[in-house]
Amino acid sequence: MAKYRLIRGLLAASGQFVFRRAPLASPDQLSLAHDAAYVDAFLHGTLDKAVLRRIGFPWSEGLVKRSLASVGGTIAAGRDALQRGWGGNLAGGTHHAFRAEGAGFCVFNDIAVAIESLRAAGLIRRAAVIDLDVHQGDGTAQIFANDPSVLTVSMHGARNFPFRKQQSKIDIALPDGTADEAYLAQLETLLPIILDPAPDIVFFQAGVDTLDSDTLGRLALTHAGLRRRDRLVLGACHASKIPVVITLGGGYSNPIELTAQAHATTFLTAAEFRW
Ligand SMILES: [Zn+2]
Repeated sequence: MAKYRLIRGLLAASGQFVFRRAPLASPDQLSLAHDAAYVDAFLHGTLDKAVLRRIGFPWSEGLVKRSLASVGGTIAAGRDALQRGWGGNLAGGTHHAFRAEGAGFCVFNDIAVAIESLRAAGLIRRAAVIDLDVHQGDGTAQIFANDPSVLTVSMHGARNFPFRKQQSKIDIALPDGTADEAYLAQLETLLPIILDPAPDIVFFQAGVDTLDSDTLGRLALTHAGLRRRDRLVLGACHASKIPVVITLGGGYSNPIELTAQAHATTFLTAAEFRW
Protein backbone atom coordinates (compact mmCIF):
# COMPACT_ATOMS: atom_id res chain seq x y z
CA MET A 1 0.00 0.00 0.00
CA ALA A 2 2.97 2.30 0.56
CA LYS A 3 3.46 2.92 -3.14
CA TYR A 4 0.34 5.09 -3.49
CA ARG A 5 1.64 7.68 -1.03
CA LEU A 6 5.13 7.57 -2.55
CA ILE A 7 3.89 8.14 -6.12
CA ARG A 8 1.75 11.07 -5.07
CA GLY A 9 4.74 12.56 -3.24
CA LEU A 10 7.00 12.23 -6.27
CA LEU A 11 4.45 13.83 -8.60
CA ALA A 12 3.59 16.62 -6.14
CA ALA A 13 7.30 17.42 -5.85
CA SER A 14 7.48 17.90 -9.63
CA GLY A 15 4.94 20.73 -9.41
CA GLN A 16 3.46 19.74 -12.77
CA PHE A 17 0.14 18.25 -11.70
CA VAL A 18 -3.26 19.28 -10.39
CA PHE A 19 -4.59 16.74 -7.88
CA ARG A 20 -8.26 16.19 -7.24
CA ARG A 21 -9.92 13.88 -4.75
CA ALA A 22 -11.46 10.93 -6.55
CA PRO A 23 -15.27 10.94 -6.51
CA LEU A 24 -16.90 7.71 -5.30
CA ALA A 25 -18.43 5.55 -8.02
CA SER A 26 -22.14 4.92 -7.50
CA PRO A 27 -23.75 1.45 -7.39
CA ASP A 28 -25.54 2.32 -10.65
CA GLN A 29 -22.23 3.10 -12.35
CA LEU A 30 -20.66 -0.13 -11.03
CA SER A 31 -23.62 -2.13 -12.30
CA LEU A 32 -22.95 -0.97 -15.86
CA ALA A 33 -20.01 -3.41 -15.96
CA HIS A 34 -20.75 -5.66 -12.98
CA ASP A 35 -23.48 -8.01 -11.91
CA ALA A 36 -25.84 -5.98 -9.69
CA ALA A 37 -26.07 -8.77 -7.08
CA TYR A 38 -22.26 -8.87 -6.76
CA VAL A 39 -22.10 -5.07 -6.36
CA ASP A 40 -24.81 -5.17 -3.71
CA ALA A 41 -23.25 -8.05 -1.75
CA PHE A 42 -19.82 -6.40 -1.70
CA LEU A 43 -21.16 -3.01 -0.64
CA HIS A 44 -23.17 -4.56 2.21
CA GLY A 45 -20.49 -6.99 3.39
CA THR A 46 -22.51 -10.08 2.57
CA LEU A 47 -20.22 -11.46 -0.12
CA ASP A 48 -19.62 -15.20 -0.18
CA LYS A 49 -16.45 -16.09 1.78
CA ALA A 50 -14.92 -17.98 -1.13
CA VAL A 51 -15.31 -14.94 -3.42
CA LEU A 52 -13.76 -12.69 -0.78
CA ARG A 53 -10.86 -15.12 -0.44
CA ARG A 54 -10.20 -14.92 -4.18
CA ILE A 55 -10.12 -11.11 -3.91
CA GLY A 56 -7.52 -11.44 -1.15
CA PHE A 57 -8.57 -8.55 1.14
CA PRO A 58 -10.64 -8.80 4.35
CA TRP A 59 -13.93 -6.90 3.99
CA SER A 60 -14.19 -3.55 5.76
CA GLU A 61 -15.95 -0.21 5.33
CA GLY A 62 -12.52 1.16 4.43
CA LEU A 63 -12.13 -1.37 1.62
CA VAL A 64 -15.57 -0.37 0.28
CA LYS A 65 -14.65 3.32 0.24
CA ARG A 66 -11.26 2.67 -1.30
CA SER A 67 -12.80 0.48 -4.02
CA LEU A 68 -15.42 3.11 -4.87
CA ALA A 69 -12.82 5.88 -4.99
CA SER A 70 -10.54 3.80 -7.18
CA VAL A 71 -13.29 3.33 -9.78
CA GLY A 72 -14.56 6.91 -9.43
CA GLY A 73 -11.03 8.18 -10.06
CA THR A 74 -10.77 6.33 -13.35
CA ILE A 75 -14.19 7.60 -14.47
CA ALA A 76 -13.12 11.16 -13.64
CA ALA A 77 -9.80 10.64 -15.43
CA GLY A 78 -11.75 9.46 -18.48
CA ARG A 79 -13.73 12.70 -18.51
CA ASP A 80 -10.49 14.66 -18.08
CA ALA A 81 -8.94 12.81 -21.01
CA LEU A 82 -11.88 13.65 -23.28
CA GLN A 83 -11.56 17.33 -22.35
CA ARG A 84 -7.79 17.79 -22.17
CA GLY A 85 -6.20 14.91 -24.08
CA TRP A 86 -5.14 12.85 -21.12
CA GLY A 87 -6.08 12.12 -17.54
CA GLY A 88 -4.75 9.85 -14.84
CA ASN A 89 -5.76 7.99 -11.74
CA LEU A 90 -3.10 7.38 -9.06
CA ALA A 91 -4.84 4.05 -8.40
CA GLY A 92 -6.94 1.68 -10.46
CA GLY A 93 -6.00 -0.73 -13.20
CA THR A 94 -7.78 -3.45 -11.20
CA HIS A 95 -7.99 -5.72 -14.22
CA HIS A 96 -8.58 -9.08 -12.49
CA ALA A 97 -12.14 -8.15 -11.50
CA PHE A 98 -14.70 -10.08 -13.57
CA ARG A 99 -18.32 -9.13 -14.20
CA ALA A 100 -19.71 -11.12 -11.25
CA GLU A 101 -16.73 -11.49 -8.92
CA GLY A 102 -13.43 -9.97 -7.93
CA ALA A 103 -10.04 -11.69 -7.83
CA GLY A 104 -6.34 -11.01 -7.31
CA PHE A 105 -6.68 -7.87 -5.12
CA CYS A 106 -9.24 -6.41 -7.55
CA VAL A 107 -12.80 -5.76 -6.32
CA PHE A 108 -14.22 -3.83 -9.26
CA ASN A 109 -12.86 -3.35 -12.76
CA ASP A 110 -12.35 0.42 -12.86
CA ILE A 111 -11.46 0.50 -16.55
CA ALA A 112 -14.55 -1.48 -17.57
CA VAL A 113 -16.83 0.68 -15.42
CA ALA A 114 -15.27 3.87 -16.80
CA ILE A 115 -15.73 2.71 -20.40
CA GLU A 116 -19.36 1.77 -19.75
CA SER A 117 -20.17 5.00 -17.95
CA LEU A 118 -18.58 7.20 -20.63
CA ARG A 119 -20.50 5.22 -23.20
CA ALA A 120 -23.77 5.51 -21.24
CA ALA A 121 -23.22 9.29 -21.13
CA GLY A 122 -22.88 9.28 -24.93
CA LEU A 123 -19.29 10.54 -24.75
CA ILE A 124 -17.61 7.63 -26.54
CA ARG A 125 -18.55 4.73 -28.76
CA ARG A 126 -15.34 2.75 -29.29
CA ALA A 127 -12.57 2.20 -26.74
CA ALA A 128 -9.28 0.34 -26.56
CA VAL A 129 -7.60 -1.03 -23.44
CA ILE A 130 -3.82 -1.34 -23.62
CA ASP A 131 -2.92 -3.49 -20.64
CA LEU A 132 0.84 -3.71 -20.10
CA ASP A 133 0.78 -5.08 -16.57
CA VAL A 134 2.87 -8.26 -16.27
CA HIS A 135 -0.34 -10.17 -15.42
CA GLN A 136 -3.02 -10.80 -18.02
CA GLY A 137 -6.00 -8.42 -17.96
CA ASP A 138 -8.33 -11.39 -17.61
CA GLY A 139 -11.27 -9.58 -16.00
CA THR A 140 -11.30 -6.87 -18.66
CA ALA A 141 -11.04 -9.51 -21.40
CA GLN A 142 -14.03 -11.40 -19.97
CA ILE A 143 -16.23 -8.34 -19.45
CA PHE A 144 -15.79 -7.20 -23.07
CA ALA A 145 -15.47 -10.64 -24.68
CA ASN A 146 -18.66 -10.20 -26.71
CA ASP A 147 -18.39 -6.46 -27.26
CA PRO A 148 -16.87 -5.62 -30.65
CA SER A 149 -16.62 -1.91 -29.80
CA VAL A 150 -14.04 -2.45 -27.04
CA LEU A 151 -10.63 -3.70 -28.13
CA THR A 152 -8.91 -5.45 -25.22
CA VAL A 153 -5.16 -5.88 -25.58
CA SER A 154 -2.96 -7.57 -22.99
CA MET A 155 0.80 -8.04 -23.13
CA HIS A 156 1.91 -10.10 -20.16
CA GLY A 157 4.17 -12.83 -18.83
CA ALA A 158 3.03 -16.22 -20.17
CA ARG A 159 3.81 -18.00 -16.89
CA ASN A 160 2.38 -15.37 -14.53
CA PHE A 161 -0.93 -15.32 -12.66
CA PRO A 162 -3.71 -15.82 -13.78
CA PHE A 163 -2.84 -19.41 -14.61
CA ARG A 164 -6.11 -19.92 -16.45
CA LYS A 165 -6.03 -17.08 -18.95
CA GLN A 166 -9.05 -15.50 -20.61
CA GLN A 167 -9.04 -14.48 -24.24
CA SER A 168 -8.44 -10.78 -24.88
CA LYS A 169 -9.06 -9.55 -28.44
CA ILE A 170 -5.25 -9.43 -28.68
CA ASP A 171 -2.99 -11.34 -26.27
CA ILE A 172 0.79 -11.28 -26.36
CA ALA A 173 2.22 -13.80 -23.89
CA LEU A 174 5.91 -13.24 -23.25
CA PRO A 175 8.48 -15.82 -22.06
CA ASP A 176 10.22 -15.46 -18.68
CA GLY A 177 13.09 -13.02 -18.69
CA THR A 178 11.89 -10.95 -21.66
CA ALA A 179 13.95 -7.76 -21.61
CA ASP A 180 13.71 -4.27 -23.11
CA GLU A 181 14.49 -4.81 -26.79
CA ALA A 182 12.27 -7.84 -27.40
CA TYR A 183 9.47 -6.27 -25.36
CA LEU A 184 9.58 -2.90 -27.10
CA ALA A 185 9.78 -4.49 -30.55
CA GLN A 186 6.51 -6.35 -29.83
CA LEU A 187 4.85 -3.20 -28.57
CA GLU A 188 5.98 -1.14 -31.55
CA THR A 189 4.43 -3.66 -33.93
CA LEU A 190 1.23 -3.76 -31.92
CA LEU A 191 0.42 -0.05 -31.51
CA PRO A 192 -0.50 0.81 -35.12
CA ILE A 193 -2.85 -2.20 -35.15
CA ILE A 194 -4.57 -1.03 -31.95
CA LEU A 195 -4.94 2.58 -33.07
CA ASP A 196 -6.24 2.01 -36.60
CA PRO A 197 -9.13 2.55 -36.85
CA ALA A 198 -8.79 5.06 -34.04
CA PRO A 199 -10.81 4.35 -30.89
CA ASP A 200 -12.53 7.32 -29.21
CA ILE A 201 -10.40 6.76 -26.09
CA VAL A 202 -7.53 4.56 -24.90
CA PHE A 203 -7.23 3.20 -21.38
CA PHE A 204 -3.59 2.48 -20.56
CA GLN A 205 -3.18 -0.02 -17.72
CA ALA A 206 0.41 0.98 -16.98
CA GLY A 207 1.46 -1.67 -14.47
CA VAL A 208 5.17 -1.64 -13.72
CA ASP A 209 5.49 -5.21 -12.47
CA THR A 210 7.42 -5.97 -15.67
CA LEU A 211 10.50 -4.41 -13.99
CA ASP A 212 13.35 -6.82 -13.37
CA SER A 213 13.30 -5.80 -9.69
CA ASP A 214 9.67 -6.90 -9.31
CA THR A 215 9.03 -9.72 -6.87
CA LEU A 216 5.95 -11.06 -8.71
CA GLY A 217 6.77 -10.47 -12.37
CA ARG A 218 8.96 -12.77 -14.42
CA LEU A 219 10.13 -10.22 -16.97
CA ALA A 220 13.29 -8.13 -16.96
CA LEU A 221 12.54 -4.59 -18.08
CA THR A 222 14.79 -1.75 -16.95
CA HIS A 223 13.59 1.69 -15.87
CA ALA A 224 14.84 3.08 -19.19
CA GLY A 225 12.90 0.36 -21.02
CA LEU A 226 9.71 1.21 -19.15
CA ARG A 227 10.17 4.86 -19.97
CA ARG A 228 10.47 3.95 -23.65
CA ARG A 229 7.31 1.83 -23.26
CA ASP A 230 5.46 4.86 -21.87
CA ARG A 231 6.77 7.11 -24.65
CA LEU A 232 5.67 4.63 -27.30
CA VAL A 233 2.11 4.28 -25.97
CA LEU A 234 1.54 7.92 -25.02
CA GLY A 235 3.35 9.22 -28.10
CA ALA A 236 1.24 7.07 -30.43
CA CYS A 237 -2.00 8.25 -28.79
CA HIS A 238 -0.81 11.84 -28.86
CA ALA A 239 0.20 11.64 -32.52
CA SER A 240 -3.21 10.22 -33.45
CA LYS A 241 -5.03 12.72 -31.19
CA ILE A 242 -6.65 9.91 -29.21
CA PRO A 243 -7.51 10.79 -25.59
CA VAL A 244 -5.68 8.51 -23.15
CA VAL A 245 -6.33 7.56 -19.54
CA ILE A 246 -3.50 6.27 -17.36
CA THR A 247 -4.21 3.92 -14.47
CA LEU A 248 -1.60 2.37 -12.19
CA GLY A 249 -1.91 -1.40 -12.17
CA GLY A 250 0.62 -3.62 -10.42
CA GLY A 251 4.10 -3.02 -9.08
CA TYR A 252 5.81 -4.98 -6.31
CA SER A 253 9.51 -4.18 -6.47
CA ASN A 254 11.81 -4.59 -3.55
CA PRO A 255 12.43 -1.90 -2.43
CA ILE A 256 8.99 -0.44 -3.24
CA GLU A 257 10.59 2.94 -4.07
CA LEU A 258 11.61 1.43 -7.42
CA THR A 259 7.97 0.72 -8.22
CA ALA A 260 6.87 4.20 -7.15
CA GLN A 261 9.57 5.79 -9.29
CA ALA A 262 8.51 3.79 -12.35
CA HIS A 263 4.82 4.67 -11.87
CA ALA A 264 5.69 8.35 -11.44
CA THR A 265 7.73 8.24 -14.64
CA THR A 266 4.62 7.24 -16.61
CA PHE A 267 2.80 10.39 -15.48
CA LEU A 268 5.86 12.59 -15.95
CA THR A 269 6.22 11.20 -19.48
CA ALA A 270 2.59 12.05 -20.25
CA ALA A 271 3.23 15.59 -19.04
CA GLU A 272 6.07 15.96 -21.57
CA PHE A 273 3.63 15.98 -24.48
CA ARG A 274 1.64 19.09 -25.39
CA TRP A 275 -1.95 17.80 -25.34
ZN1 LIG B 1 0.15 -7.16 -12.19
